[in-house]
Amino acid sequence: MSHLLPVVVATPAHSGLGPSLTYEHPHLLPPGTLVRVPLGKREVLGVVWDGAPAEGGADMATRPITEALDALVPLPAAWRQLVGFAARYYQRSLGEVSLAALPPQLRELNGVQLARRLKRAPAAPATHVPPALPELSPEQQDAMVRLDSARQPVLLFGSTGSGKTEIYLRAVQQLLDADPLAQALVMVPEINLTPQLETRFGERFGAAGVVAMHSGMTPPQRLASWLAAHSGAVRIVLGTRMAVFASLPHLRLIVVDEEHDPSYKSQEGARYSARDLAVYLAKQVNDAHSTEATGPAHCRVLLGSATPSLESWHAAESGRYLRLAMPSRIGGGSLPRLRLVDMNHQPRKTLLAQPLLDAITERIARGEQSLLLLNRRGYAPVLACHDCGWKSECAHCSAHRVFHKIDRTLRCHHCGFTERVPRACPACGNLDIAPLGRGTEQIEEHIIERLAGVLRPDGTPAQVARMDADSTRLKGSLEQHLARMHSGEVDVLVGTQMVAKGHDFRRITLVASVNADAALFASDCRAPERLFALLMQAAGRAGRDASLGATSEMWVQTGYPQHPLFAALRQHDYPKFAAQELSDREAAAMPPFAHQALVRADARSQETAQAFLNEAAALATELPGADQVTVFPAVPMTIQRVANVERAQMLLESPSRIALQRFLAAWQPTLLAVRQGPAGKGLVRWAIDVDPLNL
Ligand SMILES: [Zn+2]
Ligand SMILES: [Zn+2]
Repeated sequence: MSHLLPVVVATPAHSGLGPSLTYEHPHLLPPGTLVRVPLGKREVLGVVWDGAPAEGGADMATRPITEALDALVPLPAAWRQLVGFAARYYQRSLGEVSLAALPPQLRELNGVQLARRLKRAPAAPATHVPPALPELSPEQQDAMVRLDSARQPVLLFGSTGSGKTEIYLRAVQQLLDADPLAQALVMVPEINLTPQLETRFGERFGAAGVVAMHSGMTPPQRLASWLAAHSGAVRIVLGTRMAVFASLPHLRLIVVDEEHDPSYKSQEGARYSARDLAVYLAKQVNDAHSTEATGPAHCRVLLGSATPSLESWHAAESGRYLRLAMPSRIGGGSLPRLRLVDMNHQPRKTLLAQPLLDAITERIARGEQSLLLLNRRGYAPVLACHDCGWKSECAHCSAHRVFHKIDRTLRCHHCGFTERVPRACPACGNLDIAPLGRGTEQIEEHIIERLAGVLRPDGTPAQVARMDADSTRLKGSLEQHLARMHSGEVDVLVGTQMVAKGHDFRRITLVASVNADAALFASDCRAPERLFALLMQAAGRAGRDASLGATSEMWVQTGYPQHPLFAALRQHDYPKFAAQELSDREAAAMPPFAHQALVRADARSQETAQAFLNEAAALATELPGADQVTVFPAVPMTIQRVANVERAQMLLESPSRIALQRFLAAWQPTLLAVRQGPAGKGLVRWAIDVDPLNL
């Protein structure tokens, strides 16, 4: 007798195939079993799924499963639930999400090859002698006690240098000691930028006790890590966002370090948020183990940040998350004093103000280091008048309209309101209106020129290094830059946001942000939040050495010194900043008080891309949830044309997450039909981005 089984295989996102295909096999394989099945003329990897096979399963066309890879234990239920949820929530096919969540090399192995890999299992880890543990501060002790009894997700709000990493290490240690099988998942935004964390986990638990998971690994390395975690042989996984899909059968702790970091949100394929999925995953594990309604969580989720995302902060304010605060810096180093340079009082077109240059020069002469931060996140340009302060606000909503150079228009990316760029400032008639934050490109060159003549204490010229994505692309060059900075060979480090992350430079006493203004008035409502996080993080780089803490300064060049963001920054007061931002967002009905999705379309012409979106929207007015969802008109994206493809987007907004989800699910078939109809001619691709981070 043979059994019919539902099997999930990698199907394209919009193929129209059902969530699973039906195959037959002599044995009833449990859900989660990996199998190899025929698909067309190919043989592919699949996963036996839960539930009954699809309707009309048993017919002549049903083909047998080629091979069950049953040397491997089935993928756990929590994993299948996570993948199923991610596919539904982010509007992708189950086949795409589930197969993308497995290490690519698994697709190529048959049963014999896989069994061989499994035999190559890591030798039993050598007994590891952990180093002497640092003493916990009273704040850390308190955090550990409260963490222990927490039921809900925990937001660890600890300032830079407050010892959050030690909390992660202790929480993992306690778990491993208490439960001989338990596993922990520790996620970081970008592993290459935080090498210290990997080192500290290795020192504490032994290199054999931790595996890494990130996109920089080779396929065999990824497979080895995945197998070690899936088999339970390794109990700690340290990885980037993709690690949320690791198979951890005994998962009991998830740490999301720097939870506010945008790199937790995928920007391609299923545009998932690993942080949000981590919270969902912990809840699944807990629900499966809920024998009683009270008591500590079975699987804990710990989100750490000095500048939490407003979503997480709001969840803590409303009691859904437990907030643990660690405001003090360990080792006594104080946070640097804020110095604002009012650029309105500097000569026109100044790139680097004289007082700031003097402050850097003094540091070089004293043998101290400086860090200069360039903001190059590429915010959509907003027009401003440099005489009266007018900015291209939208007349219909509390967003700034974006300057589109191609057709010289101002467009609101929120509601779609469009006008031609005015000839002169509408408020004062000044002819000199220009995008905020211009001149970014020249700044770096200019700084290097102006520092050229400055001398070090030994009479040699000052050493300036730049560090950005371009200068660190070569393997090992990031390490080289860091080593030169640590050894004191470099006096001034110039770079983009990546220099603000994680590195522990002890001799930095000056941090300066030279062009932050574009983020203050961006069309994207998250820009101020990111700027604040970046400046706080950068400030944390200065004064790490307690003996130099007193002289540490954070400089910001701005044309808007009265902006409330700087008042909160001066006091290193994130709660104050967050309260203000949240009340602004509530008044404007922006996230987290509204839920958003973007539909993006790429086509040969801008008209085609927009027509596709607008036609699909016109057919959606009667769909379930439509009464609670606002569908705005299609607009060109900020970077409208890439490689001769025109890009457009359409914003959807709802006060109800559930209504938005129902609407999107019901809308998918319409989008598919329009894609295949006349309006889809010339369309290159389309995709839905749920909870988008960039508008
Ligand atoms: Zn003006
Ligand atoms: Zn608007």
